[in-house]
Amino acid sequence: FPRLRNIETLSNLLRSVLLLSPGDLLCCVYLCLNQLGPAYLGLELGVGETVLMKAVAQATGRQLDKIKAEAQEKGDLGLVAESSRSNQRMMFQPANLTAGGVFSKLKEIANMSGNSAMNKKIDIIKGLFVACRFSEARYIVRSLAGKLRIGLAEQSVLAALSQAVCLTPPGQDFPPAVVDAGKGMSTESKRAWIEEKMKPEQNPSFHFMPNYDVLIPVLLKEGIDQLPNHCKLTPGVPLKPMLAHPTKGVGEVMKRFDEAAFTCEYKYDGERAQIHILESGEVRIFSRNQEDNTSKYPDIISRIPKVKKDSVVTCVLDTEAVAWDREKKQIQPFQVLTTRKRKDVDASEIKVQVCVYAFDLLYLNGESLVRQPLCQRRALLRESFVEVEGEFMFARSIDSNNTDTIAEFLEQSVRDSCEGLMVKTLEKDATYEIAKRSHNWLKLKKDYLEGVGDTVDLCVIGAYLGKGKRTGTYGGFLLACYDEDNEEFQSVCKIGTGFKDEDLEQHYKFLKEHILPKPRAYYRFDPSAEPDVWLDAVQVWEVKCADLSLSPVYKAAMGMVSAKGISLRFPRFLRIRDDKKPEDATTGAQVCHIIARVQRSGSDTEQHPWMRVQVSVLLKDTSAGRLLLNAGA
Ligand code: ATP
Repeated sequence: FPRLRNIETLSNLLRSVLLLSPGDLLCCVYLCLNQLGPAYLGLELGVGETVLMKAVAQATGRQLDKIKAEAQEKGDLGLVAESSRSNQRMMFQPANLTAGGVFSKLKEIANMSGNSAMNKKIDIIKGLFVACRFSEARYIVRSLAGKLRIGLAEQSVLAALSQAVCLTPPGQDFPPAVVDAGKGMSTESKRAWIEEKMKPEQNPSFHFMPNYDVLIPVLLKEGIDQLPNHCKLTPGVPLKPMLAHPTKGVGEVMKRFDEAAFTCEYKYDGERAQIHILESGEVRIFSRNQEDNTSKYPDIISRIPKVKKDSVVTCVLDTEAVAWDREKKQIQPFQVLTTRKRKDVDASEIKVQVCVYAFDLLYLNGESLVRQPLCQRRALLRESFVEVEGEFMFARSIDSNNTDTIAEFLEQSVRDSCEGLMVKTLEKDATYEIAKRSHNWLKLKKDYLEGVGDTVDLCVIGAYLGKGKRTGTYGGFLLACYDEDNEEFQSVCKIGTGFKDEDLEQHYKFLKEHILPKPRAYYRFDPSAEPDVWLDAVQVWEVKCADLSLSPVYKAAMGMVSAKGISLRFPRFLRIRDDKKPEDATTGAQVCHIIARVQRSGSDTEQHPWMRVQVSVLLKDTSAGRLLLNAGA
């Protein structure tokens, strides 16, 4: 069990830190997590790969080109830095690095801004390099690149930290009174004892306060048992959201929930927005990954006073922000939302409007609601806020256990531009489980339904170099459809899934013989999706996709349905189509008709919304496809 072994090793290290240098506990934890502070504060190093390579080159006296080539070959700049360092001779060996020293340098780098920041950052990085010993350069470079890869996810670091503070409770005395609080316990009972202390029901503080700057001083001063008294759910501090399990169909939902009361809500296709109203009246909005999105949504913030009742002083809402067409009064696809500016948005310049769909209330007026069942949270949500069309709505829902009614609601959700349904327990086992993919929330997406998924035949025109496990082969590919009218290949998506290891090997072997120094004049693509290597259009692949969407980046069928192109979402590689020439690839017009068909079936109650599968099957046969196209279907 490598995970348990890693936890044990890290816990032993942290116990030594607790005994020998407790003041370093915080920076050790952050270094292990490859973070500079709580994730929600978004402190970033701002060091790109090129800058890092420059620093490695300057610190080691090697040519930048050589470093670049070697990094590409090895797929890990850390290894390059480590081996380059050993070439160096030094007159004076700088002082050894310390955890606290490295961490404060990293923070210094992150806090630098302005014109000369880059050069100053390079200087600090060089300073760190020359002091590196053993394999330190490898990990410092990886830290700087944000890819530490030491096999420790945050859950493991947290487990190691709790194990360390349970077994070696921090204290002021030295030598400490207790060095091993678990002495005499069997491994099993020790584990059970520590797990009990960590259980979210017992000790939810790690979830309520995902901020080690707050947690660790409490741990050091008061001990793990006191955490719940000091670290509570606080508006302004984002919570990791509850997540859902996928299910294949209504039948599976019925089986899973059996007799339990449940509700089905629309699953809106936008961006999760956790809205906090602080005691000061300030409003903050956090993303699914606890990033601060407050400055992205001044429009949402300004409408809060209008939609909240006077009784609401503080609260935390769980919602989905969805692109909204004000004229047509309808939801717009997710892709539209992605075109919205991400930061420092000026309310007067907003082009993409959003409607907030609220589906949960986690905190209200000083009280955490997460232990209450959904039916109560939902009642409080509906009592405390008012709906305003196109601005703030409650997630549409039905509380039914009739299979046909649910199936109809699912179809309706797809017609209403949603992804499907979220099915949630209402009374029993219906608490809000922070940071958990819970079986009490099931997602029923149209993509998962049996038989859904269009297959298209696309031409490979570029490749992205593999990283990590895929180093040495291509890890992703740029695919294109063919446009007969303009005789050009138009980029339609990047693909990286569906490949077995043998597939990747085979593709690499074959495609590397077809590398081009630059793209063909008849390739239509956006520079932001430029691949690492361009390939001659010689091979066609059959690809399954879960959805199609309008895209500012991809060029398929550009100008046919909109000024934008169409892209495939969630493409999966199925097989090589040796029987097709590149010019036989699915055309932009065909992709366009798939979209038209999807939209048409969406508005036609007689049609099943996923009839489009059959359309794609027809389109694959060119003559039938042409007939269909000519018939205007
Ligand atoms: P996951 O979040 O489960 O890892 P994901 O990010 O791909 O996967 P989905 O699988 O699409 O997201 O499903 C969960 C997301 O659906 C939520 O994070 C939320 O943003 C969104 N969502 C939309 N409507 C609802 C709803 N009514 N209840 C809960 N979540 C909803």
